[in-house]
Amino acid sequence: MNVRAPNLRLHSSGLTAEHDMACAVCHTEKAVYSLNEGHFEPCWRCRSEGWRLRHRDRSRFWVQAAQALVIVLLVLGVGLCAAALFR
Ligand SMILES: [Zn+2]
Repeated sequence: MNVRAPNLRLHSSGLTAEHDMACAVCHTEKAVYSLNEGHFEPCWRCRSEGWRLRHRDRSRFWVQAAQALVIVLLVLGVGLCAAALFR
């Protein structure tokens, strides 16, 4: 099966676009084209149900892992202090 690029026509004002891309979630409504980002999002109904296109930034993995580690260490530290105080 061939992959077909959607037909996309941007208005000369740059404020609107016309396309034939189906919503990737429900396949019954048109997707929403984000003019700022330049990609398609799920239709408005699916978006109201919580569906979103998400870009996972892998470069932030270690930052988030370090933040989680700090939280765990803080909780352990508070727990140990509380145990020492109420012994
Ligand atoms: Zn949809």
